[in-house]
Amino acid sequence: MTQAFKFCPLCATELAWVTQAEDGGDKSRLRCPACDFTHWNNPTPVLAAVIEIDGRILLARNAAWPGKMYALITGFMEAGETPQEGIAREIAEETALTTDALNLIGVYDFQRMNQIIIAYHAVCHGEVHLSPELVDFRMYAPEDLKCWPAGTGYALADWLRSRGHTPQFVEWARRDESAATSSSTDSE
Ligand SMILES: [Zn+2]
Repeated sequence: MTQAFKFCPLCATELAWVTQAEDGGDKSRLRCPACDFTHWNNPTPVLAAVIEIDGRILLARNAAWPGKMYALITGFMEAGETPQEGIAREIAEETALTTDALNLIGVYDFQRMNQIIIAYHAVCHGEVHLSPELVDFRMYAPEDLKCWPAGTGYALADWLRSRGHTPQFVEWARRDESAATSSSTDSE
């Protein structure tokens, strides 16, 4: 999601790569030659959840993903909500589950998509009804979970470690890390 903005959102002039002095020194960015708008292209916060129901963990498969990849529920944080409100909303929208408790697992780097991942462990209850963007889900005992070596996979691994499990990573990912990266996250 390297945003290729073409026009200034304030005055509609075509943006150009312009070098300017900033606090950190000279920096080339997409800027508006007419009104001085700078397209900072800051990373987008993405919320993710390791959903636990009755001691088992829900992983879901997105319709857009290749292969048989099952991963965490994720979604973009929206304006006017806290991260906790946002992930509870995403869980409700994507699975119809109700969130009873949330604990922050950690914050994870995902520069390839210009995102920052904020991952929670979510204890939930209810009956799963998937949103149309998800095609399937599976419930796993924690010891049976396999992690993937990218963004949300590291969050899952850290949660497993916090529960005394040694995380196992999927085999194919080590052979082809780029494929693992492209299939392991929600690009919406
Ligand atoms: Zn402008």
